[in-house]
Amino acid sequence: MPAHVPADLPVPDLNQNAKVVLAKRYLRKGPDGKPVEDEQALFWRVAHAVAAEETRHPGSPWQPDELARTFYDLMISFKFLPNSPTLMNAGTELGQLAACFVIPVGDSMDEIFDAVKHAALIHKSGGGTGFSFSRLRPVNSRVGSTGGVASGPVSFMRIFNTATEQVKQGGTRRGANMGILRVDHPDILEFIRCKEREGELNNFNISVALTEPFMQAVEQGEDYDLVAPHSRESKGRLNAREVFQLLVQKAWESGDPGIIFLDRINRDNPTPALGEIESTNPCGEQPLLPYEACNLGSLNLALLKSGDGVDWEELKRVTHLAVRFLDNVIDASVYPLDRITEMVRSNRKIGLGVMGFADLLFQLGIPYDSREGLKLAEKIMDFIQTESKAASKQLAQERGPFPNFEASVYASRQQGPFRNATTTTIAPTGTLSILAGCSSGVEPLFALSFARHVMDGEKLVESNPHFEAAVKAAQCHSPRLMEEVAAKGSIAHIDYIPEDLRRVFVTAMDITPESHLKMQAAFQKFTDNAVSKTVNLPNEATQDDIWKIYWMAYELGCKGVTVYRDGCKTAQVLCTGDGA
Ligand code: UDP
Repeated sequence: MPAHVPADLPVPDLNQNAKVVLAKRYLRKGPDGKPVEDEQALFWRVAHAVAAEETRHPGSPWQPDELARTFYDLMISFKFLPNSPTLMNAGTELGQLAACFVIPVGDSMDEIFDAVKHAALIHKSGGGTGFSFSRLRPVNSRVGSTGGVASGPVSFMRIFNTATEQVKQGGTRRGANMGILRVDHPDILEFIRCKEREGELNNFNISVALTEPFMQAVEQGEDYDLVAPHSRESKGRLNAREVFQLLVQKAWESGDPGIIFLDRINRDNPTPALGEIESTNPCGEQPLLPYEACNLGSLNLALLKSGDGVDWEELKRVTHLAVRFLDNVIDASVYPLDRITEMVRSNRKIGLGVMGFADLLFQLGIPYDSREGLKLAEKIMDFIQTESKAASKQLAQERGPFPNFEASVYASRQQGPFRNATTTTIAPTGTLSILAGCSSGVEPLFALSFARHVMDGEKLVESNPHFEAAVKAAQCHSPRLMEEVAAKGSIAHIDYIPEDLRRVFVTAMDITPESHLKMQAAFQKFTDNAVSKTVNLPNEATQDDIWKIYWMAYELGCKGVTVYRDGCKTAQVLCTGDGA
């Protein structure tokens, strides 16, 4: 039942892009495809449904009605937004609120096709799925029951890909998958090449799971063993440097595959007693155990400036509210499988992150690629990590710790107790940042002025408001300038703009790959899960440059890396100038 909207509720003040996106993808529609709610009703539906969970907990200091209004105000202020499935489905019949899932794929027909079905159900509800295909026997292995031969991980991935193609998420979002293969799987070379043809496995991001022994073998220039997962037999050896070089070459050509550092991800697994982490969600920011799901939420740093710094008091307030919100979402959500419900409710992972970081830096006059920028990133994320843990501890007192707490690393380290096995994740915020009208995640701006392609080829033209304000203040605003910026994206080479503005208003392509990566590492240092970040490279970057980036990511303690060399694929989501 849609919640009754109180008459005195403030009306959300939405930017034009947000209105378009909400109308197209978020507002509930009737059988005739027409919206049956407006934006105010949408945010109230979500606030009301999530706050209603408060009644489960007699120890809560909040009245559900009061909390619903507080959540509503928090969302319509755009200081915090939950991930898209929560906005789409909270308080509806579908009721599936998490963005991220990991589903295991076992080495049998039954298990493979169960996973295809489970993924389809998740996609239908608006979630993305990650899978490790590492358990599947390699191509040409014997199949005991038939005497035939196995077709291997990559051929099965095509089935997942086709199934995904047919299921539009919640009627609006197309399914997204992550496919992972361990570097010591005998089919690794085929996997590394599996996206080399344009359009192949188009519903997958792929990543190779690198292990410590493999990285050491690369360093030493040694060979390493390929092992068949079903028999544990050795299936030959490959030279680690050659495999690493192939990874680099393919990423240079097309951006795929990315890499994840599997041992490092597992070193941060808060519940190793429940098993190993083998995959992440589609955009890589959320490592999860098999059958685990996680709901995400993002704080908008663009709105948290105070004087010449950050409004720490407000950041603390919104962090505590956001943790309560996300913890309630776990119980408000209906999951597509009982196993998922059990896993999620026993570990209660949530992923609070940030968006609008680049906008905050613009307002503070701090270049993204500067020591000051990195220091601020660490300070902010350290603060959110600390406060989110404090909030989770508070919730544990009110509601009890997550049921697997005693089996977690926190119990053995005598920390907590906490309500949530993890509290922080930095999501891409692809859609949330459009709704909030801010820069996405912790990324620098792609361009100061650009055309964004969204949904069915529609185009939204945007200029960064902080940039416009700064050029006006510097009295160099002119139609000619804005045209030039829109065409070029960057102002690095527009020499009639004052030097200090050119230094602050840097875009993704002005920033060196090393600076991109250092920013990822700065946020990762204080994030439980992982950080969604693309290391942008200019078109003329070499394979050697990518090799260096991968190695540096390993040394800086990142959990994975995604690189993107400008122009290496024909279809880009964001375009500047002629490409728009
Ligand atoms: N995701 C998905 N399909 C999409 C976009 C996102 O399944 O079209 C999932 C995926 O797991 C991704 C996560 O949602 O890693 C978060 O993405 P993002 O922050 O961009 O989502 P938003 O909440 O902004 O829509």
